[in-house]
Amino acid sequence: MSTQTEEQVAGFNVAEVEVESFDEDDELDNPTYMQQLLAAGLLISTGVDGLYGRSQVFEDVVEGISDLIGAWGEGKQVEVLRFPPAMSRQVLEESGYWANFPDQLGAVFSFCGNERSHQRLLKCLDNKEDWTEDVKPTRIVMTPVACYPVYGVMAARGPLPPGGRLVDIFSYCCRYEPSNQPERMLMFRQREFVRMGTPAQILAFRDEWIEHAKLMMRWLQLPSSIGVANDPFFGRTGKLLIDSQREQQLKFELLIPGVNPDKVTACGSFNYHRDKFSSLWKIQTDTGETAHTGCCGFGLERLALSLFKHHGFDPKVWPRGVRETLWSNKYA
Ligand code: ZN
Repeated sequence: MSTQTEEQVAGFNVAEVEVESFDEDDELDNPTYMQQLLAAGLLISTGVDGLYGRSQVFEDVVEGISDLIGAWGEGKQVEVLRFPPAMSRQVLEESGYWANFPDQLGAVFSFCGNERSHQRLLKCLDNKEDWTEDVKPTRIVMTPVACYPVYGVMAARGPLPPGGRLVDIFSYCCRYEPSNQPERMLMFRQREFVRMGTPAQILAFRDEWIEHAKLMMRWLQLPSSIGVANDPFFGRTGKLLIDSQREQQLKFELLIPGVNPDKVTACGSFNYHRDKFSSLWKIQTDTGETAHTGCCGFGLERLALSLFKHHGFDPKVWPRGVRETLWSNKYA
């Protein structure tokens, strides 16, 4: 930390896209967190930056965190919904995702040619030439945000019940932003709650979750703070959206230091969408007004990385309170 420049301290974006390079001695003496995770076998390299296998221990931590988040819903009127990590391309097109985050999208393509073009494709592969001529987008895209598949499903059910709706979501998400920083994975999991109802219901839900997240961080003995945040909207129009989102305080993030030596890592977010999604997908309250929506979700890998960073790579020796919070029997 003492070698940080002022620039690094002041700006979260510094070093975000820099490719780190190490000379061999430096690497041996001072391995990065990523190198330590790989060496310990917690993460397993696939040869692609941002795409990793996970060990049993890593998965135990992820499952413990997910259960802890899910426990918030106990005793509440909550509907559990699970979707695969891919979603309807049309639904994502309608959501405006292409306008706002085109650079992060993972679309699924497939071969759609005939016998002859198949032969051409194989020849191109042999010759290491471009083989994509007959590969076209399919009707699915990788899910970028866990809650996106939910809104259309809810709209199809008609107006919300008088108390609104509360949905528990878990999904793998894909954001195409290759990096050798462990907290920036291409495929990661989100556990999230989505609330639909009146503006007052959404704001109360968000306030309750922010307080509960602070409590969870105390149980997990992780340093953290809550900050106003924005989504990484693309381009010049994006700048305006960022300013407006921050000004209206529509997004807060749970920030944890440690995983990245130069900046805090956003491990959760608390979002008020106002009527953005409900206007788009026509979700109405029981009194016929356009509903409001919000979601509070956590990046499970980022929370696991934070726990390993602060408590070490062996959960058996983590503080008792942390182990009991995550697992009642295992490791306790
Ligand atoms: Zn969401």
